[in-house]
Amino acid sequence: MNFIFSQTMRFISILVLTSLLSLGGCSRSKPIPEFHETVFTMGTLVEVTIVGADEKTAEQAYTAILDDFNYMHNTWHPWQYNALKRINNLLQTGAKFSLAPSILPLITRSQVLSKQSQGLFNPAIGKLVKLWGFHQDNLDDIIAPPEDEDIQAFLNDLPQMSDIHFNNLTMYGTNKNIQLDFGAFAKGVAVDTTIEHLKEFGIKNAIINAGGDLRAIGNHNGRPWRIGIRNPRAEGVFAAVDIFGDESVFTSGDYERYFESDGKRYHHIIDPRTGYPADKSRSVTVIHSNAATADAAATALFIAGPEKWVEIAKAMGIQYVMLIASNGDVHMNPAMAKRIEFTVKQPTIKLSKPLK
Ligand code: AMP
Ligand code: MG
Repeated sequence: MNFIFSQTMRFISILVLTSLLSLGGCSRSKPIPEFHETVFTMGTLVEVTIVGADEKTAEQAYTAILDDFNYMHNTWHPWQYNALKRINNLLQTGAKFSLAPSILPLITRSQVLSKQSQGLFNPAIGKLVKLWGFHQDNLDDIIAPPEDEDIQAFLNDLPQMSDIHFNNLTMYGTNKNIQLDFGAFAKGVAVDTTIEHLKEFGIKNAIINAGGDLRAIGNHNGRPWRIGIRNPRAEGVFAAVDIFGDESVFTSGDYERYFESDGKRYHHIIDPRTGYPADKSRSVTVIHSNAATADAAATALFIAGPEKWVEIAKAMGIQYVMLIASNGDVHMNPAMAKRIEFTVKQPTIKLSKPLK
């Protein structure tokens, strides 16, 4: 399955649930204005829905956030020649260089999140992601996993976010393998940035859905936003959850980007401890107020798997998690279980202790 296709399917599954609700809104006497636009940016389909704002405001706000997305796409894309590429080249040399304001917040925030996740979320492993070939948009021409000796050579000098240091207005790296890849985090930051920008336009009810990962504010015609969580092993929705107010829902899954070789699936979420795709989870969904944290946490908890997710979720300050394990069992904390409604046959549920 190719990337764009799979992202499109996620996008559609979310759309179905929200449009059912908008039918409910039709019975009101005065229709509440709804603005919908979809754009392909940051490697995914982004759907913007704005409810209850006049058309002109919605359009102005949409144009403004398109600029935001384009800027972030161009600045943070890990493999194009841009600010991030320059930093990546310089970090590996060990030389001091001037701080890059466009990337600095990503680095400092992900240093904290990476530490909290015990290095499972590690945006410094871009070289390993590239070794696997997941830096390419199209995975069709990958025929085999990398050589194990290349993976082990990388792991012998595994870079960490803490290998990036700051000194007054300069920064430098202390590991020759550092290559920043914010693929597990940048989408969350972009969703936060654009939601905050919509709020500056006075918009109270909106949803920014970036390929199934989203942040919502307000409500949908007085009702919660109803969000579908994709089934990791079949078309369609696995479960639904209601969002009311300001919350983000992010999912990391092994079905999103992968290639097959000798009948085995190799997906894009790499366990920095082994150098291989993490094999304990099918998908992890995190609900959190902040999209960037939710994005980093979904990736980290996917790698943590059934045995370790509770410990990492607590350290990252996460309060709602659903982890579908590789054997199909569904692990949740009690607060998440209260919110989740399964749309498939009831799976085996493993409830954790409360996260707080
Ligand atoms: P996500 O879909 O948010 O879980 O992000 C997956 C993407 O993050 C991959 O396509 C890689 O670019 C990158 N990535 C893979 N493994 C890791 C990791 N352990 N920590 C941080 N980023 C990663
Ligand atoms: Mg992520």
